[in-house]
Amino acid sequence: ARQITKVYHMGEVDVHALRGVDLELFAGEFVVLLGPSGSGKSTLLNILGGLDVPSGGEVFYRDRQLTEFDDAALTRYRRDHVGFVFQFYNLIPSLTARENVSLITEIARNPMSPVEALELVDLGKRLDHFPAQMSGGEQQRVAIARAVAKRPDVLLCDEPTGALDVRTGVLVLEAIQKINAELKTTTAVITHNAVIAEMADRVIHLSGGEITGVEMNSRKRPASELNW
Ligand code: ATP
Ligand code: MG
Repeated sequence: ARQITKVYHMGEVDVHALRGVDLELFAGEFVVLLGPSGSGKSTLLNILGGLDVPSGGEVFYRDRQLTEFDDAALTRYRRDHVGFVFQFYNLIPSLTARENVSLITEIARNPMSPVEALELVDLGKRLDHFPAQMSGGEQQRVAIARAVAKRPDVLLCDEPTGALDVRTGVLVLEAIQKINAELKTTTAVITHNAVIAEMADRVIHLSGGEITGVEMNSRKRPASELNW
């Protein structure tokens, strides 16, 4: 992303959510975006994932400019190349874990099987459970399975543990870390919890719509060894 700006026009007021962000995600890396509430983290991730468009600047996917994609190309980008995980799991309550994942595997270009995806997040024993029959952490792992079953190039997670307690959150972070390590999926995780940043290869600090610091993390930790 090059010189990304985003302005929301709210009646008389302009909200400058992003003020010239330059960011490159490298293949296979694990990045954490860290910043206080309102700093522009979700806005940035949504723009990278093709859910929102910037007011200014350019977004590239490999060497192609996302901001010039037509609707069909943007649909393919979101459907085949980007996996999204949000704070709330957004599962369909009337479908089992396996069926929730198959919603995506049936339309993706190069999917794994729903069972394979659910085994990856350690839910091989919950295939036929409905969302209401699973804990919050299990539901989030179904959402992760659904996001990675398409074998995306990039996994974008917006506060994936925001609704979970620490112990459950660790299992979710372990699943994300395993996907990054084993499938080499480029991963970006938004958080405002600095502890989670210890998992990253690189930590990007956002404040007031700007990148205020980038750190390489030489002491990357497994999720199970974070110092809460
Ligand atoms: P949080 O940690 O609370 O999720 P964030 O870092 O993700 O915060 P954003 O959601 O990106 O922050 O919001 C950045 C700024 O843009 C905020 O001031 C917010 O009020 C504003 N904003 C975000 N989305 C919209 C929208 N759809 N319409 C108007 N303003 C918005
Ligand atoms: Mg947010």
